[in-house]
Amino acid sequence: MSHKRILIVEDEYPIAKALFDGLVDEGFEPEIAGSGEDALSKDIATFDLILLDIRLPGIDGYEVCRRVRQKDLNLPVIFLSARDDVMDRVVGLEIGADDYMVKPFSFRELLSRIKAQLRRAYGTLAAEQKSPDTVTFGTILVDKRSMRVFKEGKDVYLTPIEYRILSFFLENPDQVLSRDQIINHVWGEIWSVDDTRSVNVHIRHLREKIEDDPAHPSSIMTIRGYGYRFDLKD
Ligand code: CA
Repeated sequence: MSHKRILIVEDEYPIAKALFDGLVDEGFEPEIAGSGEDALSKDIATFDLILLDIRLPGIDGYEVCRRVRQKDLNLPVIFLSARDDVMDRVVGLEIGADDYMVKPFSFRELLSRIKAQLRRAYGTLAAEQKSPDTVTFGTILVDKRSMRVFKEGKDVYLTPIEYRILSFFLENPDQVLSRDQIINHVWGEIWSVDDTRSVNVHIRHLREKIEDDPAHPSSIMTIRGYGYRFDLKD
């Protein structure tokens, strides 16, 4: 994963410089754009990922993201924002961002999100997994062939719906999934689940079964007002 090119679009130079230095230390090739105009003047296609501040002088981060997507460029975009606002998250995700970090954030957290997006976009996740038939995270082991789930070596009984939700999460680790996406995948067209709260109930049951502390989940994270993100820890 070395030498991936990352465009940092950030008008606050101290933040941009800190990100730049941190990414260089991790073997990335970052470049700084101090404004949206500056970012769009670059050859975006040569980058592997964009870190995009929302509040920028001139055209803002949302508009930069829109224009990048209009050019049919599918590189991952991670928004950086000072505001933890549900509307921001939803708007950001709807206009094509892949993830969203709220300032102040830890560099380690950002790094793990960057790596997750690069794995997803450039397809090395499968290669990194030791066996395609089993997946482990925390104290959980999932055997996909037998569709059995073990917690600390003990059988965990999941309902078929819970297993399908967990499988969907495992197929899409480290990504924000809306409740509608989960419904469409798990229930498909044949079911009409008009109440997205039923997803919340299944998620709660799933957490009770697989999380060490269901009240403070470490795998199934809630993205308020939108859905969930499954954090697949290494
Ligand atoms: Ca800013």
